[in-house]
Amino acid sequence: METSTINEFNREQEGKTAGTNMKAAVVNEFHQQLEVKDMPKPAAGRGEVLVKIEACGVCHTDLHAAHGDWPVKPKLPLIPGHEGVGIIEEIGEGVTSLKAGDRVGIPWLYSACGECEYCLQGQETLCPHQENGGYSVDGGYAEYCVAPADYVARIPDGLDPVEVAPILCAGVTTYKALKVSGARPGDWVAIYGIGGLGHIALQYAKAMGFNVVAVDIADEKLELARSLGADETVNGLNEDPAEAIQEKVGGVQAAISVAVTRKAFEQAYQSVKRGGTLVVVGLPNDELPIPIFNTVLNGVSVKGSIVGTRLDMKEALDFAARGKVRAQVETAPLDNINEVFDKMEKGKINGRIVLTM
Ligand code: NAD
Ligand code: ZN
Ligand code: ZN
Repeated sequence: METSTINEFNREQEGKTAGTNMKAAVVNEFHQQLEVKDMPKPAAGRGEVLVKIEACGVCHTDLHAAHGDWPVKPKLPLIPGHEGVGIIEEIGEGVTSLKAGDRVGIPWLYSACGECEYCLQGQETLCPHQENGGYSVDGGYAEYCVAPADYVARIPDGLDPVEVAPILCAGVTTYKALKVSGARPGDWVAIYGIGGLGHIALQYAKAMGFNVVAVDIADEKLELARSLGADETVNGLNEDPAEAIQEKVGGVQAAISVAVTRKAFEQAYQSVKRGGTLVVVGLPNDELPIPIFNTVLNGVSVKGSIVGTRLDMKEALDFAARGKVRAQVETAPLDNINEVFDKMEKGKINGRIVLTM
C-alpha cells in the first residue's frame, strides 16, 4: 500500500477530519476532570452533516459516562453530549434531505441500522447496532460535531437553541415514557425526580391531560414543580411518598422514575395502583427488587423506556414549538463543565444547565 493510500485508509477508519482544530470538553479517563482542549475538527463524510454547535444540554447520562458507571462503557477519550443543537455548516456527499444553514439536534440515538427487526417495526431505539451520541461516538460538548443526516432532528423554526437543547434527550425521553405508560387523560401519574428530565416530564404529563404528583427530596425542585403545574408535590425526605400518594389520590396509574437512586424506584413501584405501570427511566447502576406476590395480585407492569424514536422526537419537538413545554435553563460556558458536573452530582441544578460554545 502506498503511504497516501494508508493515510486515506486510516482517515476512513477514524472518521474524517477537516485538518483544523476545534475546542471540546474531553473525558480522558473515568472519574477524572474533563479536559477542555483542542481536538481535530471533524468533516462530514458520506451521508453526514457537520454541525456548528450552538448549545448542548448537560444530561445526567453524561456524568454516568464520565464515571464509567454502566456495564457498557463509552469510548475513551470521549466528547460527551447528546443534547447538542446547532447549524449545519457542511453536508457530506449524498445528503439531499438537509442543507447548510438548517438547525438540527444530535441525539443519543445517533444512528441505527435501519434493517433489523426493531428498526423495521419502528422500535429503532432497540436496534442492537445503534450508535449513541456522546457515548459510543463523540457528541456535542464541542464547537463542531458530525452526525448522520438521517438521524439528526430538525429543530422547528422559532425555537431558541438553548431552550430547545434539553428536548433532544430530557424531552423526548420523558414524552416517550409517558406514551408507553398506558396512562390516559384524567389519570394520575407520579414523576419521581424533578431534575433535568423530571421538570420536563411533568410538563408533558400536564399537556397530555394527566394529573401529576411530583416527588423529589429538595424543596426548591418541588417549588419549580408547582410553578410548572404539578397538582400535588411530595418531599421524600419528610414523608414516605408511596404512602402519601396512596392516601392523597389512591395510587397512580403510572409512576415514572427518573431519579438516580434505587429508593426512588422502590417508592415509585409502591405508588402504582392496581393495574398500573412503573416506567423505569433513570439509570443508577443498581437492581430493583420487585415483590412477586403484589406484582401478580395487583397486575402491575414494570417497563423500561429508552429515549425515543425519530417520530417520538418530532412529536416531542412539536410540543415545544407550540409552547406547551419549555425547559427551565441556565447557561454555562463549555469551559465550566467540571463545575456543572459537580453541581449535578450534588443535586444543586434547578432544571437543566445548557453549555454554550
Ligand atoms: P438530574 O440529576 O437532573 O435529576 C435527578 C433528580 O432526582 C434530582 O432533581 C434529584 O433531586 C432527584 N432525586 C434524587 N434522589 C431522589 C429520591 N430519592 N426521590 C426523588 N427524587 C430524587 O438527572 P437527569 O438528567 O434528569 O437524569 C436522570 C436519570 O435518567 C439519569 O440516571 C440519566 O442517566 C437517566 N436518563 C435515562 C434516559 C433513558 O432514555 N432511559 C434518558 C436520559 C437520562
Ligand atoms: Zn440524556
Ligand atoms: Zn436496527
